[in-house]
Amino acid sequence: MNQRRDKGRKPQLIIAIDGPSGAGKSTLSKALATTLGYTNIDTGAMYRAVALLATRQHTALDDSVALQQLCRQMQFEFRRVADSDHVFINGEDVSDAIRTPEVSLLTSKVSACPAVREELVRVQQQMGRLGGVVLEGRDIGTVVFPQAEIKFFLSASAEERGRRRFDELRAKGIDVDLQQTIAEVEARDAADSSREHAPLRRAADAIDIDSTIMDIQQVLALMLETVRARMAQA
Ligand code: C5P
Repeated sequence: MNQRRDKGRKPQLIIAIDGPSGAGKSTLSKALATTLGYTNIDTGAMYRAVALLATRQHTALDDSVALQQLCRQMQFEFRRVADSDHVFINGEDVSDAIRTPEVSLLTSKVSACPAVREELVRVQQQMGRLGGVVLEGRDIGTVVFPQAEIKFFLSASAEERGRRRFDELRAKGIDVDLQQTIAEVEARDAADSSREHAPLRRAADAIDIDSTIMDIQQVLALMLETVRARMAQA
């Protein structure tokens, strides 16, 4: 029997949310997963964890053999702590440490390494294989789950995305400059879009959502409408 469409139960779909940094993927992915009772998988956090660990262990970011080894040894876990999603590596809560601007830039370098992608994609496919998941990232609809029932491609203008990242960092007490944050967001997108392996790309069958002038609730309502229509067909 197909475990994802067990008779009489709500269909356990695979939902992909891809798009550039700061488009609102994390917030929406969490909100969508919570509303549907699905598991939320933040694949960016996994690449960030590799970058953080590589820096701490002084692993050269162009040493693909060492990076692959690091991925294989890394014990990665998403855990709910006081009602929010936390990221643990080797038992340590690194939720804040992986979100600094420095780690963001290093992550784009690490994520261009095919050996790292191979390792993490395998784990992501394992985590999501039974469905009932929302995965957010850059290559979910194109590489990780090209067969996902629903694919969203979420974007917003670079300026708006930079502003959101700026607000987010400031709220955490990290002292950053707005223009520099916009420039960093643009640089990261350029690197993610132009890399050779699994670049940030819209899947041909993805639904485009531009969140520049929409708030979270409006985008969430649009996504839920699409999901419910698809569930009714399933
Ligand atoms: O989504 P987030 O901004 O946390 O992702 C951090 C970085 O991880 C991205 O800039 C990108 O380099 C990488 N990434 C990726 N593939 C994914 C998710 C994230 O290459 N599926």
